[in-house]
Amino acid sequence: MAKTLGLKCRECGREYPIEPIHVCEYCFGPLEVRYDYEHIKKSISRRKIEEGPKSLWRYIDLLPVEETRVGASAGFTPLKKAENLGKFLGLENLYIKDDSVNHPTLSFKDRVVSVAISKAIEFGFDTVACASTGNLANSVASHAAQAGLNCFVFIPANLESQKIYGSLVFAPTVVAVEGTYDDVNRLCSEIASELQWAFVNINIRPYYAEGSKTLAFEVVEQLGWRAPDAVIAPAASGSLITKIWKGLKEMVAVGLIDGMQTRVYGAQAEGCSPIAQAWKEGRDFIKPVRPNTIAKSIAIGNPADGIYALQVTKESKGDWETATDQEIIEGIKLLAETEGIFTETAGGTTIAVLKKLAQKGVFKKDEIVVAYITGNGYKTMEVLDNHLKETVHIKPTLSDFKEKILARV
Ligand SMILES: *Cc1c(COP(=O)(O)O)cnc(C)c1O
Ligand SMILES: [Zn+2]
Repeated sequence: MAKTLGLKCRECGREYPIEPIHVCEYCFGPLEVRYDYEHIKKSISRRKIEEGPKSLWRYIDLLPVEETRVGASAGFTPLKKAENLGKFLGLENLYIKDDSVNHPTLSFKDRVVSVAISKAIEFGFDTVACASTGNLANSVASHAAQAGLNCFVFIPANLESQKIYGSLVFAPTVVAVEGTYDDVNRLCSEIASELQWAFVNINIRPYYAEGSKTLAFEVVEQLGWRAPDAVIAPAASGSLITKIWKGLKEMVAVGLIDGMQTRVYGAQAEGCSPIAQAWKEGRDFIKPVRPNTIAKSIAIGNPADGIYALQVTKESKGDWETATDQEIIEGIKLLAETEGIFTETAGGTTIAVLKKLAQKGVFKKDEIVVAYITGNGYKTMEVLDNHLKETVHIKPTLSDFKEKILARV
């Protein structure tokens, strides 16, 4: 493939060929895909992208696969101008990038998985797997079903039931591990070293992670080919934030935009905030924590890309904030009541943190601010028990309607 130059260690710079590997043999640093930007620059253009498919595959020139092999409709989700929420927060140009309606499994993970499994097929694997906090399992199971691959998904046993059904329906083997996500991930790393399986977020991770860049590409295109002034995204492993930044830089590198000065802000749940804590304490290393939050989709206590996510906020002059479980629920309700979008706990975290940052005064009122909503509220409905207005029960009679409803409005 002429567009990629291979893999490169983020720590020591050693180079490797394009293979299903993810760590450097010498220093154990993570491997990242390298591209030949000069070569890509010659063939890529705004016009070619605009004429491409209405999916993330319109950016295939900047993705590490030869062709779309599965997940043809992932990505290209709406960028909604959030007039009501913006008014509430004092922001004139607030946008919601709405991956709660991503295809096919309603979270941003459909981006990374469509790329990872296309690559796994290119490598010749017949079995795909993942260590997941829920959304990844849903997406891997769906894409494996589409591609006719064997599938094993590993999750912490205490996940929301909607997320478990959201995997089971595609009939993979769902392995519920008694432990935290970090226990699941460690177990999967051991399994991956023994079996010839494509673990999308372990041995296929360098390719998987590239899918997240499309969240930057699409926003820039949807804003009329300009980079936002600020973006805010939730962090679990820290990969998404790291790759949004890589995507923005690549758009400059291949000449799609002239420059960018986007500030990147990170959101974590207070009950699992190892990256935000490191930021607040001025550390450049992560102290692992034991997660305790309703935001299970982003509950990773030992984030693989945490230090790189810290570097991104430093380099871009961003910041980190956290949200308590109560604030996360309020964030979910605020987005629903102002913009009609039902997000899950990760999105509630993003909105709660957006509100805090706005109150702190980090945004000028006319700046373009984009909040990434990465998952769908129908998957975490149980967290809303006892937090919503109650249903009003009536008998099927006009008099009961008048007495119980009309008399009270
Ligand atoms: C996985 C996930 C994230 C964050 O992912 P990382 O790349 O691991 O930081 C954010 N939101 C949702 C809904 C997710 O499922
Ligand atoms: Zn190395």
